[in-house]
Amino acid sequence: MTARFRTLDALGDVTGKVALVRVDLNLPMADGRATDLTRAQAVAPTILELADAGAKVLLLAHYGRPKGERHSTMSTSVLQGAVEHVLGRKLMYISELFGPTVEQTLGIFRPGDIGLLENTRFWPGEEANDPEFAKAIAANGDFYVNDAFSASHRAHATTEGLAHLLPAYAGRAMQAELEALDKALGHPEQPVAAVVGGAKVSTKLAVLEHLVSKVQHLIIGGGMANTFLAARGVAVGKSLCEHDLAAQAEAIMDAAEAAGCTVHLPYDVVVAQEFAPHPPSLRTVNVHEVGADEMILDIGPQAVEALADVLKTCRTLVWNGPLGAFETPPFDAATVALAKTAAALTREGSLVSVAGGGDTVAALNHAGVADQFTYVSTAGGAFLEWMEGRELPGVAALSG
Ligand code: ADP
Ligand code: MG
Repeated sequence: MTARFRTLDALGDVTGKVALVRVDLNLPMADGRATDLTRAQAVAPTILELADAGAKVLLLAHYGRPKGERHSTMSTSVLQGAVEHVLGRKLMYISELFGPTVEQTLGIFRPGDIGLLENTRFWPGEEANDPEFAKAIAANGDFYVNDAFSASHRAHATTEGLAHLLPAYAGRAMQAELEALDKALGHPEQPVAAVVGGAKVSTKLAVLEHLVSKVQHLIIGGGMANTFLAARGVAVGKSLCEHDLAAQAEAIMDAAEAAGCTVHLPYDVVVAQEFAPHPPSLRTVNVHEVGADEMILDIGPQAVEALADVLKTCRTLVWNGPLGAFETPPFDAATVALAKTAAALTREGSLVSVAGGGDTVAALNHAGVADQFTYVSTAGGAFLEWMEGRELPGVAALSG
C-alpha cells in the first residue's frame, strides 16, 4: 500500500484520446431502478474530469454475477439511466467490449463523449484474466484508468490485466481511497487504535493477526469480543461465541503482548435473555456476571467511556465492525457513542478516522456521523483484504 501510483495529474493532453476507465457501477437495483447511487457518485468526478479534458471515455464495469455468459437482466444498459442522472450527461451504451462495434462507435465519438461498454463479466476472459481478452479490449484504448478500488482485490482482466497493456492511472476515487488507507495504516500518525467488531472472529482472524503488529490499541467488540472473553475463561452464556476459536484468540492476545499492542476487551456488557428490541430482560452487568440464559448483545457504558479515553490519546483510528447488534435498539448504544466520540475528535483535528465494512458504514450512518469521519470506505471485501495487509492486485498493477 506504500507503493506509488500515477494519478490523473500525470496525464498530458488527452484531447481525442480514448480512455478505458474501470469503474464500480454495481448499483443495488429494485424494479429496474437504482436504490442507491453512492457508487456512481464516487466515480463521477473521474469520468467528468476526463471528458472535460477532451478524452473519449469508455466505461468498463461489471454488474452482478453472470459467470461468463450474456444475461439481458445483467446488461450494463440497465444502469445507463442512473449513471446519466448522476453525471448530468448523455451516455452511449455499447453492447460489446471490443471489436468492430466499439471501433465504429469511437469513429463517430467526439472529444468528451462517454460510452458505457457491456458487462465485463459476460465474457469468461474477465474473471480468468485472459491476456488475449485484455489485449482485445486494450486495442481500442490509448490509456487505462482504474477507479474501482472495490473491485481491485480481484486480478481480473479489466482490474489488473489492462494495467500491463496500456499506460495506467489511478482515478480520483481510487486515489482518495489509497491516500486515506495510507494515512490509516500505511504511514499513520501514532498512536493508532483499531476497532474490530462485528459478528464473528472466524471472518476476521487475518485482520486481527495483521493489526497486532501495526497498532498500539486493539479494541475488540461485537460478537468477536465474546470469543475472546470465553477464551479468557469468562462464562458468556448463550452469546454468539466461537468456542472452538479459543486457541486462535489466545494466540492473537499473545502476539499483541509481544508486539506492545494493548488488547481492549469490555469489562461491562449489555445482556438479555431474548434478542428483541428493548427486551424486558435487559441488564447491564460486569462481564463476570452474565447468566447462563443470557446473551451479550452490546458492550457496556463503562467500557465505552474507557475506550473514548483511549481514542483521546490516539492520532489515528481504523474501524471495522460494530460493537454490538446495532440494528436492534438499545444494542446500538455503544457503537453510536464511540462513533460520536471519534467524529468529535476528528472534527477537532486530533484524530484521523478511517472506517470500512458493509455493516460498519450502515452503523456510522445510523449514528449520523459517517460524513464526519476522515474517510469511510464502501469497498467491503477489498477493504477487509487491505486490513489483512494484503496487496490488492489491481492496485499493485498501477504502481508497476
Ligand atoms: P462489517 O460488515 O462492517 O464488516 P460484520 O459483518 O463483521 O461487520 O458484523 C456486523 C454484524 O455483527 C451486525 O449485523 C451486528 O448485529 C452483529 N453483531 C455485533 N455484535 C453482536 C453481538 N454481540 N451478538 C450478535 N451479533 C452481533
Ligand atoms: Mg457485514
